Amino acid sequence: MLRSARRVTVLTGAGVSAASGVPTFRGTGGLWKSFRPEELATSEAFARDPALVWEWYDWRRQTIAACRPNRAHEVLASWTDRFAGYVLITQNVDGLHERAGLAPVRLHGSIWELACWDGCGVSAWRNEDVPLPVRPPRCPECGGLARPGVVWFGEGLDPRVVARATQSTACDVFITAGTSSIVYPAAGLVHDAHRRGAFTVEINPDATPASAIVDARLQDGAETVLDVLDRLL
Ligand code: NAD
Ligand code: ZN
Repeated sequence: MLRSARRVTVLTGAGVSAASGVPTFRGTGGLWKSFRPEELATSEAFARDPALVWEWYDWRRQTIAACRPNRAHEVLASWTDRFAGYVLITQNVDGLHERAGLAPVRLHGSIWELACWDGCGVSAWRNEDVPLPVRPPRCPECGGLARPGVVWFGEGLDPRVVARATQSTACDVFITAGTSSIVYPAAGLVHDAHRRGAFTVEINPDATPASAIVDARLQDGAETVLDVLDRLL
């Protein structure tokens, strides 16, 4: 299917970065100090205890900074030269796709961007300080609290980004890799692609809610499966 495909869309989740050493949310190692990510990655958690949430993000940023892109990121970056219409969409906030050389459509923002919590109107800014010299960090414009430039549970996605991702489900092959397929609207993309006639593939060592509808399941790590697929191509 990939050999004859012109339009290929790939959606990635935390599992694609697992082999790089970035903990997933739902796998082992997802816990931090006995908190579940769902208890920290929300605006309610931040409103209650910004210092705690920033301590967690500072820890995640340090972990990610010490990680390197793996074979999955490399193959997915190189496919931009292989297929006429290629779109890489990610739920990951770690920046490893970018570091492998291809900027994806980012559904959930970036852990390397900050935004003003008070919404003073300043646009999001990059911050790659590891560890953060001042915690919690401040807005350079109004001096208020800064927040991570990521989409938290319960928050809406940028409609333009969702539109881009949805458009790309009109494709020949759609691959969902390393995602638990639980968090919407990202989890809906494979269903869209299926409805629109794409050949759909899931790459994940474990079963997910998407497993029942895809045309093919490749049950192993993304770093292994994508390496094999790329060599067969
Ligand atoms: P998730 O943690 O819910 O699920 C990870 C999935 O990856 C699981 O289904 C697991 O079986 C699979 N997996 C584990 N190792 C794998 C491997 N080597 N190859 C392929 N698959 C593997 O992650 P999610 O579905 O991306 O959703 C969680 C949300 O958390 C996302 O919205 C994302 O923004 C955020 N998140 C991001 C990162 C990151 O940027 N690296 C890490 C954790 C969570
Ligand atoms: Zn501000």
